[in-house]
Amino acid sequence: MTLRIALRPAPLLLRFILPRPSLLLHQLPTRRAGHGPGQRVIHYMGHQAGATQPPTPHKTIHFCSQCAGPVDLKFVSSEDRWRHICSACSHVHYLNPRNVVGCIVEHEDQVLLCRRGIQPQLGKWTVPAGYMELQESTAEGAARETLEEAGAAVEIVAPYVHFDIPGIGQAYLLFRARLAPPFTFAAQAPESLETRLFPLEDIPWDELAFSAVSLALRYYVEDRRSQSWRMHHGVIRKQAGAGPNDPGSFKLTDYMGLPLGAERIQTQA
Ligand SMILES: [Zn+2]
Repeated sequence: MTLRIALRPAPLLLRFILPRPSLLLHQLPTRRAGHGPGQRVIHYMGHQAGATQPPTPHKTIHFCSQCAGPVDLKFVSSEDRWRHICSACSHVHYLNPRNVVGCIVEHEDQVLLCRRGIQPQLGKWTVPAGYMELQESTAEGAARETLEEAGAAVEIVAPYVHFDIPGIGQAYLLFRARLAPPFTFAAQAPESLETRLFPLEDIPWDELAFSAVSLALRYYVEDRRSQSWRMHHGVIRKQAGAGPNDPGSFKLTDYMGLPLGAERIQTQA
């Protein structure tokens, strides 16, 4: 697949502006967020000098990829972070968040959802999405995941949501997409048990797999009904020990809803 991208400069918001510090799941920020009283500008202050050392994270790497020596978790004060460092050769094993890329696929006023055939959240519904691979763009990854999980070829329409989930080291990048020729889809084992088009009023809200997907679909329904598309950004803050989509166990903070201009990203076979 080749990707033809012709983006025109869009108005940029230079600062993160919030109407209030945080919002519960069912209190989605409105399209007027950030334009009323009580605006708040977020500045990243970093880890304050002299502050208490953060708690030791869970060790996830045990042996060095370079020399097979034992790896220890060590606090690097110059970075204010814990790092996995080889005790034999000092190689630093960096751990970074992973991108989850996927599509909200629309066809004849319906959206395409997949019922998961694998853990986590086996049996729950989600949009086709998965981890981005090396050597691909986010849009290419989103289209690939849609083909792999839903058996559907799609045309990417526009970027739609970017949600950070720092508590689990993930960032979600979901695109709006249209079903493309031959306009067919089918659940792809083992990832999916079932793939269906849902009218918006029939979206199985109580059976959705992930908090990011639940939020994205709520914004999608809101935008579709108003026919006013935005790109949504926010940070999903999960309570410690919360499940992938436990009601009331996460909050959306740092929210921005950016009005979109003309849709200019298209894929070509
Ligand atoms: Zn080593």
